[in-house]
Amino acid sequence: MTERSPQAYGQPPRDGGLLTRLLEVDGLAVEFDTRKGPLRAVRGVSFHVEACETLAIVGESGSGKSVTAQALLGLVPSRARITAGSIAIEGRDVTGLSDAEWRELRGERIAMIFQDPLSALNPSLTVGYQIAEMFRRHRGTGRAQARRYAAELMAQVGIPDAARRLDDHPHRFSGGMRQRVMIAMALALDPVLLVADEPTTALDVTVQAQILRLLRQRREADRLGMIIISHDLGVVARVADRVAVMYAGQIVETGTVPEVYGRPAHPYTLGLMRAVPALRGTGSTLTAIEGQPPDLAEPPTGCSFHPRCPLARERCREEAPEPRELSHGRAVTCHFAEEVLDDA
Ligand code: SF4
Repeated sequence: MTERSPQAYGQPPRDGGLLTRLLEVDGLAVEFDTRKGPLRAVRGVSFHVEACETLAIVGESGSGKSVTAQALLGLVPSRARITAGSIAIEGRDVTGLSDAEWRELRGERIAMIFQDPLSALNPSLTVGYQIAEMFRRHRGTGRAQARRYAAELMAQVGIPDAARRLDDHPHRFSGGMRQRVMIAMALALDPVLLVADEPTTALDVTVQAQILRLLRQRREADRLGMIIISHDLGVVARVADRVAVMYAGQIVETGTVPEVYGRPAHPYTLGLMRAVPALRGTGSTLTAIEGQPPDLAEPPTGCSFHPRCPLARERCREEAPEPRELSHGRAVTCHFAEEVLDDA
């Protein structure tokens, strides 16, 4: 089995190994219409992804990480809209694309892996047909050739006996194998960016490790930029280069995984780290972050985290902190980050 190359599917070669900025998100804001008024789910989020790099976006449910991911693929729900900021993929501003333009771009330049492959795949069609359709629809590839490509891709993502399994329906595959099918479909058109929203949440620990290994391998082989959306800090530690921590629709801390995990600078990040036993070593006490995330239709004044923050004081209730750089590539949104660093 030969390794897939961009040329194999009629695409131009990539950049020859140079670092390339594939994604630039600047000041992105997304609002939902609700009966209470606008709900600001994403509030001024900025980040970037280079080729061959994995950025993890972490946070609790409702932090805005999945809405951010949807915006990257032009998939914000109909009752939501982008109200500010920009998204550039390979230098092209895609913020105002029409649905037709997004259909062209999605799969070709940016693709998504969903948490639940069973609901993302069509249960009545064979997996071979569903993968081959990508080539037929987007590239006009002939039926027999598209089938060969589908079998190649399935083999590359580790599905044994791929040529025979082309004619199986999704329910005949285990959870881990179905996720491999999803990954094959996402990679079919040779995108430069892959967004994986909780890609291993539904899988047991052993299969989870296999899928994470596969994603790392594909990132290296295809020089992909990757974004992993996860609430699982253990998963992030195993797969990501950099991490962006989201709270209440904002990024509150960014840095490399060793920096952020080793010495969190935001009280929320510190709380997340302390809530994960595997990251604290054996024998340590698990501490949950007290309180609930705020209602983003009526966010608190000042710092959004202040109602839950053990370090909150008067200034925090009155003045929202701005993101500030602690060192190159490392930023935090907290008035008192230095105290958190000392504590960490
Ligand atoms: Fe806590 Fe204040 Fe920092 Fe907000 S600004 S995270 S309330 S210390």
